[in-house]
Amino acid sequence: MGCKQATVAVQSGSNIDEQYGCVVPPIYLSSTYNFTGFNEPRAHDYSRRGNPSRDVVQQVLAELEGGAGAVMTSSGMSAIHLLCTVFLQPGDLLVAPHDCYGGSYRLFDSLSKRGAYNVIFVDQSDNQALKQALAQKPKLVLIETPSNPLLRIVDIQYICGLAHEVGALAVVDNTFLSPVLQKPLDLGADLVVHSCTKYLNGHSDLIAGAIIAKDPVIAENLAWWANNIGVTGAAFDSYLLLRGIRTLSARVMLQQNNAAAIAEYLQQQPQVKKLYYPALKNHPGHEIALKQQTGFGAMLSFELDGDEQTLRHFLSALKLFTLAESLGGVESLISHTATMTHAGMAAEARAQAGITDSLLRVSVGIEDSQDLIADLDKAFQAAATR
Ligand code: PLP
Repeated sequence: MGCKQATVAVQSGSNIDEQYGCVVPPIYLSSTYNFTGFNEPRAHDYSRRGNPSRDVVQQVLAELEGGAGAVMTSSGMSAIHLLCTVFLQPGDLLVAPHDCYGGSYRLFDSLSKRGAYNVIFVDQSDNQALKQALAQKPKLVLIETPSNPLLRIVDIQYICGLAHEVGALAVVDNTFLSPVLQKPLDLGADLVVHSCTKYLNGHSDLIAGAIIAKDPVIAENLAWWANNIGVTGAAFDSYLLLRGIRTLSARVMLQQNNAAAIAEYLQQQPQVKKLYYPALKNHPGHEIALKQQTGFGAMLSFELDGDEQTLRHFLSALKLFTLAESLGGVESLISHTATMTHAGMAAEARAQAGITDSLLRVSVGIEDSQDLIADLDKAFQAAATR
């Protein structure tokens, strides 16, 4: 019917239960399914390969991203690993952003050292460096925009065009914005990958991932490999994820409004040395964000002026921002990049990516924005008077 995303998210998979007329799709926990007779399997035979609860959420994910099919996996990392396993053989090249998610960086770095494939980490906003990397004919180009944790924005359409010129597939990690704010497949990407742990689920109570493919043959191939390797998502997680997705649009909009209010407040704080938020006109990616996103999202990061003690005082004074990794949940979180999300990255690599020791990343939740700002205000005072 061509419904808008909020409608798709709420309605998909509803009322599919014919036995009892359940509005909410049931959880199918069974690991196995009976055959109707000799050599007569049903649509499902074993839950690693296919599960009705997972089918529903995969369908919603594909619809939201505008893809031909989706595979839900046990985590965002297993989705990224699955992608590399399917598309990269020893000797093949992956081009990845130099400031990609720390776990992705660690995965590519460790597996390339074992000869699984080769990787070049490149600043994709540096056109010359990007073109040099692409001249080496990668098989796969990973784009992550906005990037983690500095919210750098790169031009998806432009990079996908360059990737296709050299015969590479382009995949976008869309975790930070979700399909509500960015649709990479419409911008030329072949694949989208998600940590569903974040905005898609939105309640910080599961770990899951997904790959969405534009091409149905690629989608089928990914599903085959997901079963082969055994990384498909569990039934209970599928149920929870679907429940989270129902409210995705509403949550993201609230979070985004709160983030805008907080950014405005942070801009006026003398203890904030640098603020990274793509809505700001002086953010280097602002114009591209305007072009390819339908909103600026709810993630921001900033550098606190001061030493480690200042940082400690600031963080311990916060009551509404929990010091924790992850993002995208209804509750506000704050993380210290160097010791938390990006601790697995070598100090030089962090420095090269522009991640300083005073950088804090904030995932803004759906609490009242005035309460959040008052909490930050108290923490700045505590840090100033230490
Ligand atoms: N991609 C991005 C951008 C992330 O932020 C994360 C996790 O923080 C991942 C991938 C990995 O996802 P997961 O933690 O679900 O394995």
